[in-house]
Amino acid sequence: MITVTDLCDYVWCPHLVYLKKVRRIKVPPTPAMVRGTVLHKVREDREARERIVLTNALEESTPFSEIQSIIYSNGYQCAKNAVLKFRPRLEKAGIDPIELMSFLKQELKLESIVRAARIKRAMAATDVRTAIDIVLPDQRAEEMIEDGPLGLRGRIDKIDERRSGPVPVDYKTGAYHDEPTPGQQVQLAAYALLLERQRGRPVPFGIIEYTAIDRQVPVLIDDEHKEYVLALLDEVKRIVEQREEPKEVEIKKEKCGACHYREHCTYPCGF
Ligand code: SF4
Repeated sequence: MITVTDLCDYVWCPHLVYLKKVRRIKVPPTPAMVRGTVLHKVREDREARERIVLTNALEESTPFSEIQSIIYSNGYQCAKNAVLKFRPRLEKAGIDPIELMSFLKQELKLESIVRAARIKRAMAATDVRTAIDIVLPDQRAEEMIEDGPLGLRGRIDKIDERRSGPVPVDYKTGAYHDEPTPGQQVQLAAYALLLERQRGRPVPFGIIEYTAIDRQVPVLIDDEHKEYVLALLDEVKRIVEQREEPKEVEIKKEKCGACHYREHCTYPCGF
């Protein structure tokens, strides 16, 4: 079974797919990856609990400060749990858990103010339950979709269940891009394809959610993007099934320089 991550690896460099899927080389995660995993986990847990916590606690008269405090406390608890859980991995990667925790506290405080303001504004126009539904729509986190006939599977960070249909959301903890990178476009198009085939409903766009700045960027997904995903899938399957080392790889110095498989790479890239 090929994963959506394999397709993104192929977009980065076909040789990377060969090293990971055929040669089965494993390298320890970089500090940025470990940090990203923890930030991901905090967001996922916070969003999974936030709706329930707010539904139980809010009344028409709940003031802004209390809403903000409830949202912050929930986020803080999730951050504390995640940092404790990943502490050994963080320390192994050279990341100070205390520094990460203080970064998270600041981020969560800012986000709690924005989210509380949105809920309070919605509460001025409607009842509490509807206000929560508007600001925090029904979501499914970490959904694994496996498509046997296609031979593709992927774990989607979050699915927004909208009236118009499901929308795949991918969290990004790294740098913000105005336009999706080729890898991000492929990732969302692959999720859209999997969702479409599972639900039998069109999925014409996805969302990249930049967690550090709490910004959502919609990304249109058309038939061409989905056909490209299918073509990539064929290429990756060919490498894996024929155990074939890709011959023609477009080498870019900045890519090889940033590649965490560089030390194990057998491609004569010369960087
Ligand atoms: S070092 Fe360069 S050629 Fe080798 S896998 Fe990484 S990006 Fe590809």
